[in-house]
Amino acid sequence: MIETRSLTKTYDDTVALREVDFAADDGEFVSVVGPSGCGKSTLLRVLAGLESGFDGTASIDGTPVNAGGSDDVGVVFQDPRLLPWATVRENVRIGFDESVTDDRIDDLIDRVGLDGFEMALPEELSGGMAQRVALARGLAYGPQALLLDEPFSALDALTKVEQQEFLLDVRDDIDATVVLVTHDVEEAVYLADRVVVLGGQPGTVVADVEVPLDRPRD
Ligand code: ADP
Ligand code: ADP
Repeated sequence: MIETRSLTKTYDDTVALREVDFAADDGEFVSVVGPSGCGKSTLLRVLAGLESGFDGTASIDGTPVNAGGSDDVGVVFQDPRLLPWATVRENVRIGFDESVTDDRIDDLIDRVGLDGFEMALPEELSGGMAQRVALARGLAYGPQALLLDEPFSALDALTKVEQQEFLLDVRDDIDATVVLVTHDVEEAVYLADRVVVLGGQPGTVVADVEVPLDRPRD
């Protein structure tokens, strides 16, 4: 379970989040939506262990989030953030120690549909493929919790739909808890079991809605 209690995050003079209570149950897919500047990325960054210094609590499976990141959490950002001179396999391997075999890495690459591209360089990949390398790396860190910050926003419309379907497939396979930050309400509702709406400045939770089961994809 992913949880924040009374989470307040301040940057210098800006209060980005105020007293946010957020939770995602094990295996749940929660989207976080809201206008630009309402603190969506900040919430994700706190959960990812990328922000030190906040008030309140943030925890994953009962363990407080510490700055520096957790091995149990995978994070995917809007841009794939691949090392341009490194192969797909090396890019997925980043963060692993040497005890992890190439077979395990290649298994993840296979899982995101990139079998045969282990030795490819990022420049040889389409935008969607590069984003799937980032997803493989996210999964590598431990599929229990996957944190996604606008992972599809930079993709063209067709690739976006492909990647959304792909995420749903992978997620069915691994049964991860997923938190997706997006400005796209349609995407949020399409993908998630529950949608949390942040709003205001500073950001607070203004709505928390279960997605009904008769949505289009069911
Ligand atoms: P969103 O992801 O919803 O667009 P952010 O979490 O990026 O919102 O930002 C929330 C608020 O915090 C905004 O006012 C933004 O300018 C501010 N903010 C975010 N990161 C920083 C930072 N590193 N330094 C100063 N202000 C920041
Ligand atoms: P997002 O909406 O995805 O957070 P932004 O372009 O708002 O994207 O932020 C990109 C980066 O800039 C983030 O690391 C964020 O923390 C930082 N940032 C955002 N707003 C500010 C700000 N007002 N001052 C300094 N850094 C900021």
